Amino acid sequence: MQRKMPRHPNNSIQVHVKNVTIISKVKRNLRRLAKAPKLIEHIEKKADWPEGVFHTIDCETHRTSILNIDLPNRFVTKFVHNMLPTGNRVHLYKTYYDDRCPSCFAEQEDRRHLLTCPDPERRKWKSKVLKELREACDRTDVGQPMIQILVDGLYHELDDCQMENTTSHPDNLQQLIVEQNNIGW
Ligand SMILES: [Zn+2]
Repeated sequence: MQRKMPRHPNNSIQVHVKNVTIISKVKRNLRRLAKAPKLIEHIEKKADWPEGVFHTIDCETHRTSILNIDLPNRFVTKFVHNMLPTGNRVHLYKTYYDDRCPSCFAEQEDRRHLLTCPDPERRKWKSKVLKELREACDRTDVGQPMIQILVDGLYHELDDCQMENTTSHPDNLQQLIVEQNNIGW
């Protein structure tokens, strides 16, 4: 049986439920805990993930990254929820609007195409992103093997293909690669 977290003297109340200890915002966290299973089931179904994939995602880190991103909030929210006015979406309610990519004329410009478009002009920002990612990682304590996986993974993702030679990465990071591939982003 899991040990319950002792209550801090300055905390007048805490709640233990389903092996989780809620120490603040009790009402909000209880509501969240009650709704979580159904919501997770919905997200896994929508993303076409096998059961359990959701729990391999560090949602808190994802949330923090989104909040700290250096782009307009509205753009980020629309991107995350796949609501950007890409050709395929706009074409649904304005049929006279071309659903193709305006750069390479690939059919059905969608969110994924925004990232993987092969047009040389659009590819310029990808090289810049990869360079900046490596430089940002180099300024942290993240180890080089981990940085290499991150850069390789993003490089292949932006090229719309799976990582190659994954076995060349250290054994202790193999599970990470498998889990990230299962998530699909
Ligand atoms: Zn394109």
